[in-house]
Amino acid sequence: MSHPLSDRINSLPVSQTLAMAAKTRELRAEGKDIIGLSLGEPDFNTPDFIKDAAIEAINQNYNSYSPVDGYVELKEAICVKFKRDNDLDYKPNQIVVSTGAKQSIANVAQVLLNPGDEVLLPAPYWVSYSAIAILSEATYVEIPSAIENDFKITPEQLEAAITPKTKMIFFNSPNNPSGTIYSEAEYRALAKVLEKYPRIFILSDEIYEHINYDCKPFSFAAIENMYDRTITVNGLAKAFAMTGWRIGYLGAPEWIAKACTKMQGQVTSGTNCIAQRAAITAVLAPVEKIQFMVNEFKTRRDVIIGLLREIDGFKVNVPEGAFYVFPDISAFFGQTINGITINNAGDFSLFLLENANVATVAGDGFGTPNCIRISYAASESQIREAIKRIKKALR
Ligand code: GLU
Repeated sequence: MSHPLSDRINSLPVSQTLAMAAKTRELRAEGKDIIGLSLGEPDFNTPDFIKDAAIEAINQNYNSYSPVDGYVELKEAICVKFKRDNDLDYKPNQIVVSTGAKQSIANVAQVLLNPGDEVLLPAPYWVSYSAIAILSEATYVEIPSAIENDFKITPEQLEAAITPKTKMIFFNSPNNPSGTIYSEAEYRALAKVLEKYPRIFILSDEIYEHINYDCKPFSFAAIENMYDRTITVNGLAKAFAMTGWRIGYLGAPEWIAKACTKMQGQVTSGTNCIAQRAAITAVLAPVEKIQFMVNEFKTRRDVIIGLLREIDGFKVNVPEGAFYVFPDISAFFGQTINGITINNAGDFSLFLLENANVATVAGDGFGTPNCIRISYAASESQIREAIKRIKKALR
């Protein structure tokens, strides 16, 4: 029997990253030894200096509603961080703290998009971007890229995708799921195109900024004439191993920040007050304090790339950041392995789950159906074991 759910929820796809995480939990509960490489979640504990700040906040009786857009001390700290790391000048009234970067992005979409507006998504893109556009009754337009080009789009492609309905573009560097980082020159070349279309807003999702190995990411809003049209989104989940604390934030022109606060005031209010107090300590901490995690991710990246290259049929590039690899596995399409026919990335990911006990995410939800996403935010021994199992299953 179908239930009388709204068209809105019926048209919304399930988050494929979270669905795979749920499936992993379910299979583990049944006693299966699943190696979870599906979720983008650091396997480290939140550093002690941040935990101590949270405990102190509890003891100081931070228990009341916070301002909807976040404590002023946190917003001031975020401004310091934006200047220090990104050379961006924001004032506290341009900052909105949210329940994760996901909510920041959803707020922006809700306050800027009208039905029929088009959102450009350079693919691959994070699974929730398309869903958030749908929820705002906008449509999304994918701009494809290829592994041979390190999953980067060109200015010509960008220009060709723009129509009179284009209202926004989502940039994400370092990228989830490809790990790609756009250089300053590459971003400036894309900005040159956008200069011609002043009505287009840019959402720059920089949640993985600290997880970079060989080149430092560049903030889109740092391009002089882009600042007034760019919303810079960030959060604490990835770099500080604080996924469950749910702290995201944005810096934007004041009128956009104000609208996001209005939206949030009707949906969730200010985010968790304890997590916000701890976030003040986290964002002000010198980046060196979290460097050990980044170093570890780099080692794991090198390990997993080396191992994946040994498997016939996996096409791999070298991602410069985030903690994902996004191999092209289309060579397996049409093949039958262990009696199972692989027709797409979904079949391949399911095959790995059932035959290798390794959880990954199919590229379809990321707008790139020839690939699968493998998160290496897992221990090196788990990564080695996972690839060993994958090799064996494919033999
Ligand atoms: N952003 C992470 C991921 O892509 C966490 C899950 C989610 O919110 O999508 O795996």
